[in-house]
Amino acid sequence: MRTKVAIIGAGPAGLLLGQLLHAYGIDNVILERQTPDYVLGRIRAGLLEEGTVALLDEIGAGQRAHREGLVHEGIELAFSGARHRIDLHGATGKTVMIYGQTEVTLDLMNARLASGLTTLYEAENVKPLDFDTDHPRVTYVKDGVAGEIACDFIAGCDGYHGISRASVKPSAIENFERVYPFGWLGILSDTPPVNPELIYSNHARGFALCTMRSTRRSRYYVQCPLEDHIDQWPDERFWDELKRRLDQETADKLVTGPSIEKSIAPLRSFVAEPMRFGRMFLAGDAAHIVPPTGAKGLNLAASDAHYLALAFREYYDEKSSAGIDAYSAKALSRVWKAVRFSWWMTSMLHKFPDTGTFGARIQLAELDYVTNSKAAMTSLAENYVGLPF
Ligand SMILES: Cc1cc2nc3c(=O)[nH]c(=O)nc-3n(C[C@H](O)[C@H](O)[C@H](O)COP(=O)(O)OP(=O)(O)OC[C@H]3O[C@@H](n4cnc5c(N)ncnc54)[C@H](O)[C@@H]3O)c2cc1C
Repeated sequence: MRTKVAIIGAGPAGLLLGQLLHAYGIDNVILERQTPDYVLGRIRAGLLEEGTVALLDEIGAGQRAHREGLVHEGIELAFSGARHRIDLHGATGKTVMIYGQTEVTLDLMNARLASGLTTLYEAENVKPLDFDTDHPRVTYVKDGVAGEIACDFIAGCDGYHGISRASVKPSAIENFERVYPFGWLGILSDTPPVNPELIYSNHARGFALCTMRSTRRSRYYVQCPLEDHIDQWPDERFWDELKRRLDQETADKLVTGPSIEKSIAPLRSFVAEPMRFGRMFLAGDAAHIVPPTGAKGLNLAASDAHYLALAFREYYDEKSSAGIDAYSAKALSRVWKAVRFSWWMTSMLHKFPDTGTFGARIQLAELDYVTNSKAAMTSLAENYVGLPF
């Protein structure tokens, strides 16, 4: 098989890149290790920046998001028993949209299907090869039969545990990492959200987040020790702990119910530099991870796909390598700002085992400042709604 761009991974980065390339007339094939159902079953992100929604619109896949997504103009920060609103729209003129990653993925998969593009699901043993030459290729095994795709470029969109970054020789890559000493225990439940806007709570017992997927489906998180297992967290214990970390009014309003999904996610910040290795380019979680506190992971996957698609378009339409040469630096400049913001939100809102009462007081001072200074509030809002791309 031959294509212009072989994309490894059918998560948001790979699927969006594939559709953008298709819109620019650039042929591409996606190889995905899992089945479509498995990819769709992963409950992850839920908050889209306006720029991400605009990209869905650009490829004609945004209709359902506009119909079903919930547009939010603000968020609330809770600390010391009270809630304080950050007016995102008032500060920036922009909003964010609640629309689950599973829905984004489904819309992108349907768009791909309608475009008649090739996606090889359940592709095993995928290997990006010869990307330091002018003739890169990707080999794989599907249904027990070995296959090979010859291509001009490889896009590694295969997430943090993917094969693309792992195929680069260690001397060519530099990794930057911060692993946080706690995780997020999250549940999904078919109960009405406790508040129309997200509540981020800093509490002496640990962080909590009240978010949602729709007006009928809630997503709640509590900070938990990394060693914890979901078996230790029956629903009743979860609801009880969540209530204890919320202000009284919110706790009283909380509607509880059986969880339909429950998982523990470790929190880490990670960036691999550069994001280009000869004719292979990394995009999304394959190159960087942020803790979900800033709601940036999926949105960064989208901005990487945007930059990379424009770079390939320039290469094919204008016979210029300027775009692909600039891709890594351009993407990393936005990535590092989102990494900084996600780290800052995480640092301000979680209970850290090693910073003691001094650290807790500094957090409260910061929250007090952020919710009372127009400049600080605007800075939070500007980053939260997403820096331009
Ligand atoms: C609990 C949680 C909450 C989150 N909340 C938010 C949020 O609110 N907002 C936000 O923006 N982000 C959030 N994120 C992050 C977001 O989900 C990710 O950043 C996003 O999925 C990245 O997309 P991606 O396409 O780069 O990677 P992925 O979604 O990981 O997709 C990679 C794909 O590559 C495939 N693959 C892997 N290895 C191979 C291989 N060897 N061969 C072929 N295919 C392979 C995988 O099966 C997968 O389908 C959250 C994440 C978690 C875990």
